[in-house]
Amino acid sequence: MFPAHFGYCAARSVEEALALLTKYGDDAKLLAGGHSLIPAMKLRLATPKYLIDLSRVPGLRGVRVDGDSLAIGALTVHADVASSDLVRQHVPGLAEAALLIGDIQVRNRGTIGGSVAHNDPAADFPVILLALNAAFVLVSPSGSRTVAAADFFVDFFTTALAAHEVLTEIRVPLPAPGAGTAYAKLGHPASGYVVVSTGVLIQRQSSGQCASARIAIGGLGGGPRRAAATEAALQGQALTPEVIAAAATRTAEGTEPDGDAYASAAYKRHVAGVYARQAIAEAVRRAVG
Ligand SMILES: Cc1cc2nc3c(=O)[nH]c(=O)nc-3n(C[C@H](O)[C@H](O)[C@H](O)COP(=O)(O)OP(=O)(O)OC[C@H]3O[C@@H](n4cnc5c(N)ncnc54)[C@H](O)[C@@H]3O)c2cc1C
Repeated sequence: MFPAHFGYCAARSVEEALALLTKYGDDAKLLAGGHSLIPAMKLRLATPKYLIDLSRVPGLRGVRVDGDSLAIGALTVHADVASSDLVRQHVPGLAEAALLIGDIQVRNRGTIGGSVAHNDPAADFPVILLALNAAFVLVSPSGSRTVAAADFFVDFFTTALAAHEVLTEIRVPLPAPGAGTAYAKLGHPASGYVVVSTGVLIQRQSSGQCASARIAIGGLGGGPRRAAATEAALQGQALTPEVIAAAATRTAEGTEPDGDAYASAAYKRHVAGVYARQAIAEAVRRAVG
């Protein structure tokens, strides 16, 4: 399958990308790794007249500590997130999510910025980044703004990004001592895309009780969302296997997943609890360690 005809511009800076976006307006689309946009163009689900390639823009790739956050450039590919020593040390749940994406070719080309901007309901990064309370730096011709994950992910395939904005950086708050992060998913056996998944950030008190829990889930309808009933069931409790198991059974409360050829809605709701239990237990283990 071939995409419709399009013009191609390779931006050399964020400023040039913004100028091109302003010039071409709704006729243009930003291109990062191309692993969501190009398939959509081949299926004629997207027919931009111009592609503005960000891949040669310097300074948008890599991971660094900046103040009390990890700053991850939007063009950092999944494989580099997965193998980053900083990510593995501070937020292993994020490295885990990156490593579970697609196959090695997808991980070597796809970017974290492209994944969150696309906000596919079956994507991994939106779920773990919501759990980690990440923020997104959006640059426009008039300046920049930083949007929290809760406001950035609006609905499936929809984010707070405006047409004239470029996402330049993802900021992940460094978890405090006593915190643990983890990610677990049931992936589709062919593509790896999420059937159901859970991202976890647990803050554990030295007494062993749960000081706070952020549990995000994917695959249960709409975009990524918090599992409020599970969070409430953990809050203030001793983080024993029994408490974790009971809390995890509430993961799908309030969700209305669609069934599909691979998994029925009932199966998704059930298995969401199984993966949530795994991820919470692993986050607690890391918080203790
Ligand atoms: C076979 C296959 C299997 C896959 N499996 C998985 C999986 O298991 N889990 C998963 O999460 N994903 C999976 N993916 C998707 C993959 O992770 C994509 O790489 C990712 O979703 C998009 O990133 P990209 O860099 O390729 O973005 P692109 O395809 O280049 O762009 C995607 C969208 O984001 C916009 N965009 C890109 N960068 C920016 C930016 N900096 N600022 C503003 N807008 C921007 C583009 O305009 C476009 O609308 C799979 C893809 C394939 C082809």
